[in-house]
Amino acid sequence: MSQHLKVADNLVVSMHYTLTLEDGQVVDSSVEGDPLQFLQGFGQIIPGLEKELYGMAIGDNKKVTVAAVDGYGDIDPDAYQVVSRAMFPDDLNLEEGMGLRMRDQGTGQLIETYVAEIRADEVLLDFNHPLAGEILTFDIEISGLRQATDEELAHGHVH
Ligand code: ZN
Repeated sequence: MSQHLKVADNLVVSMHYTLTLEDGQVVDSSVEGDPLQFLQGFGQIIPGLEKELYGMAIGDNKKVTVAAVDGYGDIDPDAYQVVSRAMFPDDLNLEEGMGLRMRDQGTGQLIETYVAEIRADEVLLDFNHPLAGEILTFDIEISGLRQATDEELAHGHVH
């Protein structure tokens, strides 16, 4: 049966992918490991990629180019924040480009941020996604398709 399936909503898709930026840098790839698995139609992958998958069958491959706005968004110039160097532990070796997890003072949620610049007494943090503003090219191949179980659909994720 599964070889007759084509990508549609409520199917579990297994997909190999390689993600390349405009400058040719490969930032992510599943090829050496397990394929990515997700429920089609649930917004579990970026929208610009998900909408290109409809109708693909197992073994089909495709190159998909996704504009920043359909990927991780444009860079938000307001998503930077200056904080005091003193709020970090003395033994933390801060470096530009390093990722940090901070607890949001308001919601208590953990959020990812990046050190954009280290100044004398201050640190500039960048709360943009590291791939914000990037045009993304995905080389993809559908490696598996199956109907999701009722439980998977109810939970909204693959088991
Ligand atoms: Zn579940």
